[in-house]
Amino acid sequence: MITDSYTELYGVFGDPVSHSLSPVMHSRAFAHIGYNAAYLAFRIKDIAAAVSAIKTLGMKGVSVTIPHKVSIMPHLDALDGMARRIGAVNTVINRDGVLTGYNSDWIGAVKALSEKTDIRGKSAVIIGAGGAARAIGFGMVAENAKVTIVNRSADKGGRLAKDLGVEFCPLSDIKNLGCQILINTTPIGMTPNTESTPVPKAYLKKEMLVMDIVYNPLKTRLLKDAEQSGCTVADGLSMFVYQGAFQFELWTGKNAPIEVMRDAATEFFR
Ligand code: NAP
Repeated sequence: MITDSYTELYGVFGDPVSHSLSPVMHSRAFAHIGYNAAYLAFRIKDIAAAVSAIKTLGMKGVSVTIPHKVSIMPHLDALDGMARRIGAVNTVINRDGVLTGYNSDWIGAVKALSEKTDIRGKSAVIIGAGGAARAIGFGMVAENAKVTIVNRSADKGGRLAKDLGVEFCPLSDIKNLGCQILINTTPIGMTPNTESTPVPKAYLKKEMLVMDIVYNPLKTRLLKDAEQSGCTVADGLSMFVYQGAFQFELWTGKNAPIEVMRDAATEFFR
């Protein structure tokens, strides 16, 4: 890539951030449409100073990842309605010095699921009650799915269920709960614990759509079990690519080259 004095600057703010797939995915997408822009990873300790730097340096947009998705919010000038409801921001756009925060995690999950089925009216179990579950929960409720939150700890799970206006079920009781869509948002099954799974294989029925948002490994034990049980599956990379596609379209106003982004993320991952 050749930069010049017209190159626009984008990046991801996180800590740690060296594992992020976003730089390779967005850089490839920018190059694909011939956009003179660079996208870099920034390891950030002081989020207030980093937000100020967006304006000082004239950065056009940033992705935000752990641990700054919540703490960045008070430093922004405006918030999108869903980001405000979810209580987390993973995307910032700089419009003439006005910084607006969005959340594209819910959009990524809803798009990845919508590729496989019509979500409306479907019963959906979301396992987990952390940041990702919160974003996906608000997204699924907005899409009129019938959501149940399932979590290990009852206090956190119950709180999220209450915020969403849906039912809560302890993870230990999941066997009594049928569903059409099952979404794992916990890190269970992530490298190095690749033999772990949040639900026993017997729970999985062939009519189910099963999504695991863990993408390291790409095919988790849950997804392997689901495939063997005849379920439709969606992997965590699809959600990741679609949340990135929303960012790309917000920043550039152009259609995201989804396949280019997916290939770039997959190659980097391998
Ligand atoms: P988080 O806020 O820390 O929440 C983690 C949730 O998982 C909590 O509800 C926790 O339950 C539960 N959990 C953790 N370990 C568990 C275990 N051993 N058994 C049962 N439950 C367990 O994390 P997050 O930000 O939501 O992220 C969760 C995962 O999603 C991470 O692996 C992250 O990389 C991935 N992610 C993927 C994408 C994507 O685009 N594909 C986007 C965002 C996040 P308790 O409440 O009981 O502690």
